Amino acid sequence: MGRVSEVERRLAALRVEARAAIRDVADFPKPGILFRDITPLLGNERLFVAVTAAMGAFHADAGLTHALGIESRGFIFGAPIAQALRVPFIPARKPGKLPAKTIREEYALEYGSDALEIHADALTAGARVLIVDDVLATGGTALAACRLVESAGARVAGCVFLLELTELGGRARLAGRDVHALLTY
Ligand code: AMP
Repeated sequence: MGRVSEVERRLAALRVEARAAIRDVADFPKPGILFRDITPLLGNERLFVAVTAAMGAFHADAGLTHALGIESRGFIFGAPIAQALRVPFIPARKPGKLPAKTIREEYALEYGSDALEIHADALTAGARVLIVDDVLATGGTALAACRLVESAGARVAGCVFLLELTELGGRARLAGRDVHALLTY
């Protein structure tokens, strides 16, 4: 078997194992939502390591300078990906959490709005940033993270998610960025 097909075989096996370790919880946090619970996957240390390695590998050759994780589950995957790719980690946080001067991007929710912030000195022009989160749903959150990076004069080199809920159209909202998800639902 050739090297490429061996890599593909391992990735396919990892996808099967990762999917089996994500628990579906109906009607959480509110009626009608099927919540994808990643905690069983995190509870398997070997699988967690393999999954973060695979997520980082999508953009390993993208010339990244930073990885940005979206609060809060984006931190869980973003920090080990940053370490594996040997780039600094930037936490994108909900408003009012970061202590120094921040820049902010607001985004619409189903009801109301929310915002993400990073420290104003976290990025410089010319940086190439990987955006990391657990789930790509409607894409509103990740798009806000992209705009935050771009408003700092930096570039989004890619976006990576553990899983993508394809029916919600997040990938289309992130058009123009290089988007990868380990799993699709
Ligand atoms: P969105 O902005 O719609 O793409 O939503 C993405 C954010 O909401 C991510 O940070 C996810 O952690 C979370 N999220 C959305 N839908 C789900 C779901 N069905 N299961 C788990 N997390 C979700």
